[in-house]
Amino acid sequence: MKIFLDRSACIGCGVCTQISPECFVLDEGSGTAKVLKEETEDPSVREAETGCPVGCIRVE
Ligand code: SF4
Repeated sequence: MKIFLDRSACIGCGVCTQISPECFVLDEGSGTAKVLKEETEDPSVREAETGCPVGCIRVE
């Protein structure tokens, strides 16, 4: 699976980093999430996609 993150829409809530800490981290400088692994088989990224309150994560 590939992870796409629209950082311009991210509000830095941290939900994705809690659900899928292997794949997302909060960037303290910008206050937005950053993708650690662009390709993964970790199913938690699907939960992060669903859980993101602004829908800025897409997993394909
Ligand atoms: Fe940003 Fe969405 Fe992650 Fe919240 S869940 S930090 S809005 S990408």
